[in-house]
Amino acid sequence: MHSILIIDDEADNLKALERTLTTVAQVHSAASGKEGLEILKKETVSLIICDQRMPEMTGIEFFKAIKDSHPHIIRIILTGYTDAQDLIEAINEVGLYRYITKPWDNQELKLVIQRALEHFEATTHNKKLLEELKNVNEGLEKTVQERTQKLKELSITDELTQVGNLRSFWQMLKTEMERSSRYKHLLSLLMIDVDHFKKYNDEFGHTIGDKILKMIAQTLKKNIRNTDFLARYGGEEFVVILPETSQKQAQELAERLRKAVAKKKKKLTISVGVTCFTEKSKIKNSKKLVIQADKALYQAKRKGRNRVEVCFN
Ligand code: GH3
Ligand code: MG
Ligand code: MG
Repeated sequence: MHSILIIDDEADNLKALERTLTTVAQVHSAASGKEGLEILKKETVSLIICDQRMPEMTGIEFFKAIKDSHPHIIRIILTGYTDAQDLIEAINEVGLYRYITKPWDNQELKLVIQRALEHFEATTHNKKLLEELKNVNEGLEKTVQERTQKLKELSITDELTQVGNLRSFWQMLKTEMERSSRYKHLLSLLMIDVDHFKKYNDEFGHTIGDKILKMIAQTLKKNIRNTDFLARYGGEEFVVILPETSQKQAQELAERLRKAVAKKKKKLTISVGVTCFTEKSKIKNSKKLVIQADKALYQAKRKGRNRVEVCFN
């Protein structure tokens, strides 16, 4: 059952209203706006009937006072004057549901209140439904976002080693070459290949081989800066993009990487090809830069492996 609040400074009116309305709702009575406010602090009510003419606080003033704190309660004003201009203006201002003129007809009053309560139920039900729908929607959106993020990560990550994949490498290299041209920054590139990895696989099996590749990727990752970009170029080959890095710095880093891997496991070494891109380079596109790094790598292999070579023009 709904609770309603009736406010009137005349005790007879309160009693009459109470008698009529106890059959449709639980009734709280107040003899003034102030009393009404006190009741609202303790009770949850769906509807308020308030007399307009009261000594300390008029009905409209009362509704103004609860406008923000109780926006959803249905407001009905009780008045002897139907056409008072200030009342008509106030109706909009406080969001009045309707007004009832004195003297009222009990049957009619009952009907009006019943209908108002049904209206209240329907709107709160609607609100609840909307709220539920909103929650469902937000949940869906979150799932979609998470999935998109996951897909994005999958599309740029090498599954085995969890470093960048080939696609993200080309994309990153292009971006970095453009940036480097625009800002006249140096840019270096390392091409890394595991030495005699076929033998390793043959001796220990592919599963161990995979673990070794993961370990190498981690070792490389640990030894580069956050701003460097490591990717698996394919098979047992890795590439590292080094923004704002000179050839000399790149060579030093390559040497550090070579040593770090050589320290990890007996007979497990890498060869590294180093190249650098500057504004003076004849090379203008990313493919050619990779070919040049590959040439350097080939030199390293030819000269006996487990070493760093540079190719630059
Ligand atoms: P080199 O020093 O000349 O590079 O000799 P290599 O044996 O490393 O070179 P080669 O290109 O002949 O062989 C590469 C081997 O790497 C072949 C393959 O068994 C191994 N390999 C490539 N991809 C994977 C992989 O994803 N997992 C494992 N376990 N092995 C791989
Ligand atoms: Mg290879
Ligand atoms: Mg190899």
